[in-house]
Amino acid sequence: MSAIDTLPPLRAVIATHGLSARKALGQNFLLDLNLTSKIARQAGDLAQCDVLEIGPGPGGLTRGLLAEGARKVLAVEKDARCLPALAEIAAAYPGRLEVIHGDALEVDPLAHLTPPIRIAGNLPYNIGTELLVRWLTPKAWPPVWDSLTLMFQREVAERIVARPGSKSYGRLALLAQWRAEARIVMSLPPEAFTPPPKVSSAVVHLTALPEPRHPADPAILSRVVAAAFNQRRKMLRASLKGLAPNIADILEQAGIAPTDRAEQIPLERFCALARLLEDQAAKP
Ligand code: SAM
Repeated sequence: MSAIDTLPPLRAVIATHGLSARKALGQNFLLDLNLTSKIARQAGDLAQCDVLEIGPGPGGLTRGLLAEGARKVLAVEKDARCLPALAEIAAAYPGRLEVIHGDALEVDPLAHLTPPIRIAGNLPYNIGTELLVRWLTPKAWPPVWDSLTLMFQREVAERIVARPGSKSYGRLALLAQWRAEARIVMSLPPEAFTPPPKVSSAVVHLTALPEPRHPADPAILSRVVAAAFNQRRKMLRASLKGLAPNIADILEQAGIAPTDRAEQIPLERFCALARLLEDQAAKP
């Protein structure tokens, strides 16, 4: 019998520990262990990896990650009510599960792990985007993590993988695709969760690229993209005019028509634009 089979079913865990779902904590639990194992498998072969899990809750995905062979799981959970349930899992997998009781936005536990490191989670929706942006914008690149396997609202997942020309294309797509390979690997209807959220969800898998896809200074690229999408319906010569007095010329040098709009421009051109702006700023 494997360790996962010695643990009580998740519905029983929730009843025993009084884990009524709290909306403020984004608690939409996954109680089907086949499903949580399937999500864990999207993170790839975990046998030689340490995994950081954000928001383990009653531990459905945690069990999946451990059953799929993760060397170690470090789980950060804000809700103290979940800790006894997680302690039961830790006892079933001696030495392989460590739980930090805290806020994932305030603790930075990556330093506690040994590479290769993967990050996984059925994230609380209110902090998912902020965590993703933090993981994609560390001071140094490549990051300490190899991959991210994360549940988002479907609409956010689509923004991460969006291509130029689509309504979902914007800062999140550019940031994610500049530094990672991003794919939607699973779609989940609201009924997969207890309680069901109002919207559908999707799991996105991001693999870190050894180097950003095209050279550019991160701060300049980020400024360009923020200005371009802040007024996404405007022509770029108008939305970017604050960046340089000769912005129309620079756009043309980057292969962008000054009358184009942000959502038509591929990542490569935004990077070219960032490099030209950097060169111009460096000129005496
Ligand atoms: N992983 C569990 C599952 O799939 O059933 C629970 C997922 S639930 C969508 C999100 C979890 O994140 C909850 O357990 C919630 O308490 C926890 N959480 C919410 N805000 C958090 C934060 N700031 N830091 C860490 N955990 C948080």
